[in-house]
Amino acid sequence: MVYDLAIIGGGINGAALMREAAARGAQVILLEKADFGSGSTSRSSRLLHCGLRYLAPGSSMSRFLTSPDQLTRALRTVQRSMRARNALVAERPHLLKPIRMTFPIYEGDTYRGWQIDAAFAVLRHFGRGGAPLDYRRYRPDRLGEALPFVDCLPKRKPLRHVIAYTEYQFDWPERLTVDMVLEAEMLGAEARNYCPVTAISETGDIWRLDTPEGAVEAKAVANLAGPWVDKVAGLEERAHPRMVNTTRGSHLVMQLGLEFRGHGVMTMSGLDHPFYCFPWRDRHFIGPTETASTENPDTVRPEAAEKAALLADLKGQLPGLDVDIGDTALGWAGLRPLTHEPRTMMAARNRVIHQLGRAGGPKFVALTNGSLGAHAITADDISDLLGLSRAQRREPPVVGPEISPNDTHVRHLADVVWRRRGRVWDADCGKADAASEVAALAGQLGWSAARIDEELWHFQRETAFFRYPGSDEVLPQEPLERPDSKRQ
Ligand SMILES: Cc1cc2nc3c(=O)[nH]c(=O)nc-3n(C[C@H](O)[C@H](O)[C@H](O)COP(=O)(O)OP(=O)(O)OC[C@H]3O[C@@H](n4cnc5c(N)ncnc54)[C@H](O)[C@@H]3O)c2cc1C
Repeated sequence: MVYDLAIIGGGINGAALMREAAARGAQVILLEKADFGSGSTSRSSRLLHCGLRYLAPGSSMSRFLTSPDQLTRALRTVQRSMRARNALVAERPHLLKPIRMTFPIYEGDTYRGWQIDAAFAVLRHFGRGGAPLDYRRYRPDRLGEALPFVDCLPKRKPLRHVIAYTEYQFDWPERLTVDMVLEAEMLGAEARNYCPVTAISETGDIWRLDTPEGAVEAKAVANLAGPWVDKVAGLEERAHPRMVNTTRGSHLVMQLGLEFRGHGVMTMSGLDHPFYCFPWRDRHFIGPTETASTENPDTVRPEAAEKAALLADLKGQLPGLDVDIGDTALGWAGLRPLTHEPRTMMAARNRVIHQLGRAGGPKFVALTNGSLGAHAITADDISDLLGLSRAQRREPPVVGPEISPNDTHVRHLADVVWRRRGRVWDADCGKADAASEVAALAGQLGWSAARIDEELWHFQRETAFFRYPGSDEVLPQEPLERPDSKRQ
């Protein structure tokens, strides 16, 4: 059969496009080399940004007055972001957690109190009737006990205001990815995990994708391989310009007092990057770092130097925080699939949908810097670009909090404990869940005793990605491998 669309990469963007294209009536197949949601989607800071950053042009907001086009674009993006936020929170409350976000404003900072009030009025307008923002701007002498992070802020500059609002966090985006794949399948689409694309060629007006499970033919291809996007483009004979420019981001997990539960703070680090201290289940994480990187996305993991840098940043940003640094061995790292900017050779933060097919030939698109939060918007935009009509669009189903009995894609222990249950983000990195889950899986999938041992061993290796070097735990031997080939 010739599909209308073949998607390479089952991260959040691939899964969202699969769902949207199937809803529009296209015959779709998605091919993922490991498990769904196991790439950059599993390594982020998980924020569903409300859109505030689009109203902050980097300098005073009066810059919008001299660039009305920029303002129009920003307003359109904010409108779409707030709509997407409302829809997600309403559809999947079990996967999105509200956090109370604090943002301090010091004497001499770029943005004035009234400008921030105005920005939130815009956000409130576009988000009316949906997930609340609960925005408040506090004067520092009126904070009371409402914002526990305020006492931890540095005293070197006078604090002018503290703003607080409700932001949402994906709890955990891997599961949303799996769910969207299953929902697309209910609409007739197909998906294969542990099925890497190994070659791409064009014959007539049809694309042919080679995989270990045979060739797949499609009228259009979407390369949504995140940080691997250039590697996948390189599977085709024709040369393509560089598209992706990755930066590394690392996070460090720690235990804070009960009074901080549900509260997060965002400040700007010494390098002018956003620095978060966010609640994460019953703990907090700090980060992310941001450094240029050309490393292999398959093996990225936290580094000892990053731990030291994050702790130094934490001391500067929140000197009043009394943390036990002995409890900070856990973390995670990932690569942001940012857009390569050829003029500067730098990583740019704009989302780009690249059109790679020859003029007049079958369509071939690729994506860089498609964020978690914008996945539905991106899926819409790519579907429009591929000419998939909305005329007969069916509203896709939404699967609930229970693990779906229709999920036939589970191959390994980590597929359940990590991607479907999210238990690797618990304090024990899912060890307890793995021990109880493995017997159930062995029964369902007919695993032998040797296979059970192998799965447990691989699970331990996979979750070693959450530990900074120097952790006391005995880790499996390096080099680490992703279990995507050996245990098919
Ligand atoms: C440190 C950090 C912090 C971040 N914070 C946020 C945040 O707070 N909010 C936010 O919205 N975004 C955030 N992001 C960005 C966000 O995580 C990514 O932009 C997003 O997850 C990209 O999703 P994707 O589906 O495009 O790519 P991925 O999730 O990387 O998926 C690509 C998939 O392609 C597969 N693949 C690769 N090669 C092949 C092949 N040959 N055949 C088949 N499949 C293949 C991979 O296995 C992978 O699963 C952050 C990212 C990082 C790293």
